Amino acid sequence: MSHAPEPPILIVGGGLTGLSTALHLGERCRWLLFEREDRVGGHARTDVVRGFCFDKTGHWLHLRDPYTMGLVRELLPGTTPDNELVQVARRARVLSHGVLTRYPFQANLHGLPPQVISECLLGFIRAHFDPASAEAPRNFEDFCYKRFGAGIARHFMIPYNHKIWGVHPREITAAWCSRFVPIPSLEEVIRGAVGDTPPEMGYNIHFLYPRRGGIETLTRALLSRLPTERVRCGAALERLDLGRREATIAGEVVPYRAVVATLPLPELCRRIADLPDEMARWAEKLRCTPVRYLNVATRVPPRAEYHWLYVPEERYPFYRVGIYTNAVPEMAPPGCGSLYVELSDRGPAPRLDDLMPGVAEALCVAGAIATPDDILFAELRELTYAYVVFDDHYYEAVARLRSYLEAHDIYPRGRYGSWTYNSMEDCLLLGREVAGLLGEQLRCKEG
Ligand SMILES: Cc1cc2nc3c(=O)[nH]c(=O)nc-3n(C[C@H](O)[C@H](O)[C@H](O)COP(=O)(O)OP(=O)(O)OC[C@H]3O[C@@H](n4cnc5c(N)ncnc54)[C@H](O)[C@@H]3O)c2cc1C
Repeated sequence: MSHAPEPPILIVGGGLTGLSTALHLGERCRWLLFEREDRVGGHARTDVVRGFCFDKTGHWLHLRDPYTMGLVRELLPGTTPDNELVQVARRARVLSHGVLTRYPFQANLHGLPPQVISECLLGFIRAHFDPASAEAPRNFEDFCYKRFGAGIARHFMIPYNHKIWGVHPREITAAWCSRFVPIPSLEEVIRGAVGDTPPEMGYNIHFLYPRRGGIETLTRALLSRLPTERVRCGAALERLDLGRREATIAGEVVPYRAVVATLPLPELCRRIADLPDEMARWAEKLRCTPVRYLNVATRVPPRAEYHWLYVPEERYPFYRVGIYTNAVPEMAPPGCGSLYVELSDRGPAPRLDDLMPGVAEALCVAGAIATPDDILFAELRELTYAYVVFDDHYYEAVARLRSYLEAHDIYPRGRYGSWTYNSMEDCLLLGREVAGLLGEQLRCKEG
């Protein structure tokens, strides 16, 4: 007796999480990947304009896991210059009080005005010896005061994080930051204040990046390992019916065995026809801030030598600037530069022409360019989903939604599927994790 084949596993979204899920499912299970856009990659795509390459702001590979290091090196083995991976020694700086200091701010106070250094040092020492600092912080703002003291909190941690997250650190829980915010020892802070530091210190002192074509080169290498007939672009998930186990994708009804959903979690929930009201209410609590950024092309090499610059002060319109060509000159035509500028304003969309004079002037102060005339062209772009807000509702909302969805064989994964703050490496690992889980749970055997 012949059995009807099991319906496939659907992978919704062809960013790094979706592609990694497909790669790791391999031939173990029947799967189909659907991507809404006309090409895969999601946030890991690169726009090429008049020979200048721009990622969706800097997408540098900070790998710490031996498995992903092996995978990325295997995907980009450097057998030809086109798929070479370069290792770059990080040069990250901070602009504040009119000077550039090294990153992280808290461990490199040297070079700041003396009164700022003493305020930061005394604040750190007071916090260090204050018994109250050992208590669990109430929120991210409190975390900054307890771990770094009032000076570093006021001059960098609070204003910078306010700019990047688009909400005040007081609205963010402290739980997420332990992994991402470097906390130096008292000795490191004192050494950093007097300039007694190694050239670069802290985390991620090296990063990897494709020699050519921007981060999308990695995306393409992943895609090239997948059977093309199972990857469909221009195919958006429109509706999911949990009861019937059917998805509507680009107008077509597709039965599924399980779904790996890498689209943003609230977007997924909005598409579930039979989602209970209670779950819909949890989904409504999820918050995320967008980011507007500029792709900037320069007709001469950029003046500054840093790869990226953190800009905490409110008087500047951006919170971070990066120079692709300082890492890999091939990101622009010879003798030119390509930059990204991440803007802090989340208000109504400005006109590029209104924005540029202020941005160009600030880029001169930041040392990125010598004069506004260095700019050949600029483009304004927006990421609708950039930073998930870890507010008081976050943990319960995500946990409840995830357990409900998984009970119905829907596996939300990825930066916006899992609804978290993570890196490309994390997404590659999430794809491997969910592929392993499905392979085991569904006892997939068929090709
Ligand atoms: C400003 C910024 C800077 C960053 N810099 C770095 C960095 O330097 N280094 C680093 O490691 N990481 C960085 N990241 C993080 C990195 O971009 C992400 O971790 C990773 O790319 C997310 O991959 P993903 O597949 O989970 O999600 P995405 O890349 O968002 O992929 C999801 C895919 O789903 C598709 N989709 C959406 N809706 C539907 C639908 N209805 N149907 C079908 N498909 C759909 C989307 O088009 C997209 O292709 C940065 C992120 C941001 C926002």
